[in-house]
Amino acid sequence: MTSTIDPATIGKANRARRHVRTLTGYLPETDASGKEQWPKGDEKVWRAGTRGLDTDVPSITKTFVNHVQTSLARQAYNLDNLGAYQAAALSVRDNLLVNWNETQMNYTRKAPKRAYYLSLEFLMGRTLDNAMLNLGLKDKYVEGVKKLGFSIEDILEQERDAALGNGGLGRLAACYLDSSASQELPVWGYGLRYKYGIFQQLISPEGNQLEAPDPWLDNQNPWELPRLDVSYEVRFYGSADRLNDGSGRSNWHGGQEVLAVAYDVMIPGYNTPTTNNLRLWESKPKRGFDLNSFNAGDYEHAVESSNSAAAITSVLYPNDHTSFGKELRLKQQYFWTAASLQDIIRRFKNLGKPITEFPDYAAIQLNDTHPTLAIPELMRVLIDDEDLDWGTAWQIVTNTFFYTNHTVLPEALEKWPVPLIEHVLPRHMQIIYDINLFFLQAVEKKFPDDRDRLSRMSLIEEGQPKQVRMAHLACIGSRKVNGVAELHSDLVQTTILKDFVEFEGVSKFGNVTNGITPRRWLDQCNPELSALISKTLKLDKNVWLKDLTKLEGLLPFAEDKKFRTEWAAIKQRNKERLAHHVQTTLGLTVRTDAMYDVQIKRLHEYKRQTLNILGVIHRYLTLKAMTTAERAKTNRRVVFFAGKAAPAYYIAKLTIRLIVNVARVINADPDTKDFLQLYFLPDYSVSLAEVLIPASDISQHISTAGTEASGTSNMKFCLNGGLLLGTVDGANIEIAEEVGESNVFFFGHLTPAVEDLRHQHLYHPVPIEEKCPALANVLNEVSKGLFGDGGVYEPLLNTVRHGDYYLLTDDFDSYIAALAMVDEAYLDTEEWIKKSIRTTAKMGKFSSDRAILEYAESYWNIEAIPVAAAK
Ligand SMILES: *Cc1c(COP(=O)(O)O)cnc(C)c1O
Repeated sequence: MTSTIDPATIGKANRARRHVRTLTGYLPETDASGKEQWPKGDEKVWRAGTRGLDTDVPSITKTFVNHVQTSLARQAYNLDNLGAYQAAALSVRDNLLVNWNETQMNYTRKAPKRAYYLSLEFLMGRTLDNAMLNLGLKDKYVEGVKKLGFSIEDILEQERDAALGNGGLGRLAACYLDSSASQELPVWGYGLRYKYGIFQQLISPEGNQLEAPDPWLDNQNPWELPRLDVSYEVRFYGSADRLNDGSGRSNWHGGQEVLAVAYDVMIPGYNTPTTNNLRLWESKPKRGFDLNSFNAGDYEHAVESSNSAAAITSVLYPNDHTSFGKELRLKQQYFWTAASLQDIIRRFKNLGKPITEFPDYAAIQLNDTHPTLAIPELMRVLIDDEDLDWGTAWQIVTNTFFYTNHTVLPEALEKWPVPLIEHVLPRHMQIIYDINLFFLQAVEKKFPDDRDRLSRMSLIEEGQPKQVRMAHLACIGSRKVNGVAELHSDLVQTTILKDFVEFEGVSKFGNVTNGITPRRWLDQCNPELSALISKTLKLDKNVWLKDLTKLEGLLPFAEDKKFRTEWAAIKQRNKERLAHHVQTTLGLTVRTDAMYDVQIKRLHEYKRQTLNILGVIHRYLTLKAMTTAERAKTNRRVVFFAGKAAPAYYIAKLTIRLIVNVARVINADPDTKDFLQLYFLPDYSVSLAEVLIPASDISQHISTAGTEASGTSNMKFCLNGGLLLGTVDGANIEIAEEVGESNVFFFGHLTPAVEDLRHQHLYHPVPIEEKCPALANVLNEVSKGLFGDGGVYEPLLNTVRHGDYYLLTDDFDSYIAALAMVDEAYLDTEEWIKKSIRTTAKMGKFSSDRAILEYAESYWNIEAIPVAAAK
């Protein structure tokens, strides 16, 4: 079959549809006095239409009904909760869009330096509630939908989480966007629009984790705007031919070309019209199909080629703190950084400034090493496209980027095989070698005859195959490097980047302790506590939610009996809300007259969920050995776990299986079930966290010392008056510094001891029966089959018996002792409530507003650009 289609014609038609609109072209002209001149029609009519939307309740219900009829093409009589959610979302979105336009126009007009947050993950959760609260319209929407016969709770439950992230790193990015907009900072996020977010976790009858795809876009997504007119081409493979003109330039050609299409997500600030942008890229084939194949009559191959372009943004990689070196993941990273940089450069070029001023107008934050290819990519653009010399280009690059390190765990440090980069990105491999050459020459000059140092610092790790060390590249290509809590930043500087501190000087390295947004993690998830705080501080929440140190005003009220009663009653109602949630979603009855003990986070050996479940078994065995009278005196405890394991992480999945099967036995045992209950809640998500966190009395953050960079859920719990049981690790340390050591429960060995202990495990192992008999007993009970076939768990138990890399045998006894102290403290109810109040009161430091302002001032050098008050 021969086609009659002329490829050239189709290509031209496609290009015409793809022209990229510049924002400046849409600014209204101003006259000599700066007054806006309206380009078209009757100015009064335009102004009437652009005054913002009416937000009284009748106007809100009217737009709701309008959206039902027009946008959704539905009617009142058959409108279900999902339809009501969609109508409410579209109505709220109208308000966001007006603010978003105003904000972007303002940035374009004022042309400030902007910051760009590049993150492969944005764990946003739900948007509707957050948008209503940030706009200050929640009460009106509650009233409006009630008048229309719906309840806001039912409507909010319809929304699917936007779960484009694995855990802490992605949620941090989401909190930082909220804070940037709330602080009126000109910050955009850049990420990928995965068709499938983090997998849905199911638990099989045996207790195994199963993974199902997360089709979060199935019901349409009202919170994104497709920008089909904003698209860029991204190349893969092909060949890069050096030009023999001594310039170092190359001609990169051939290979596969893929299109990146923009989808914009509005990010409303709290109590401000500022509404920033999160731009997510979707991959598409450059042409609808491969015309060469089509012309040859090979339709199947043509369709396959389309699929391979679309595959780039089809799914989020579900590994947290592990790097796997998969080609598609590398393509994701390049696709996203290349599209984002083209967009940032285009926006800069609209200003008409010389390219050397680029770092004065753009700061680019690299969230971990995932976007590190942006460094050689900007070099490529500056050298090959902009004709700059190497030195000028490198000067621009190293003044533009900032790198945040998120881990010192060896398995999480990204390395890419040289042959893979050579194949997928041949020009970038050349540039990386060039960067390395100049870099090592400089090191050699400062430290002559130190070959060990050169090989330690090289961007290329020798071996079969050679690998590119992305953390080294991110470090030398950036203006500044930071860790995410004091201890972690110290570890970065003394371990993985020690040589770089010696070479470049310590002033390049810093710390920005992570934070969380108090809007979602207090006001939204715990509205009763938020209201009590406002009432007690005699402050509008608009004030303290933007200056969280105001919470200190709660301290004196710890001594106020009536206040304590109100405080405790809210915790109790939050437990009932959680119990109700478990009842309706899982059909399980959870008692609410008990201490709620929560560990929710990604399943990982370093986070030591295994220590927790072995501690639960120890408690169960202890209760079993007691008389009825003895048991009656103990502290009732309900233990909750939630968290996903990477699909290929066998040991983490075994831990889940153990938890589920221990729960089955314990919850059914008539001797103990009144004193100890255990639940594994499947499919951990932001929305589930919002129900669990306000209900917690104590939460566990028990990583092996030196392994958790910061942690952020520790902050969420403490902000909600939950106490912390943890190791001396990450931000736990700074939380204790703020709230006082008497209000936290610390246990376990300290970071400096870890290396020696591991050495002892390897070279002077002590049998577990001798070293930690209590733990040995627990392991034996599991082996013997107390929780079903013991053989199943042997590989997990053996990680503790042999090697014990995460030091469970070293920390178990002090862990059990700490739990006993928690029990004792909880039984003194009034004293416990005081601790809870004092904890919340001293959490001001951990607002992500504080963190983002540190980045803005000490790293990016950007300022707030408020939108002028509406005329
Ligand atoms: C905050 C948060 C995390 C991070 O939890 P850590 O305990 O700090 O690891 C992970 N997942 C979700 C859904 C979160 O909200």
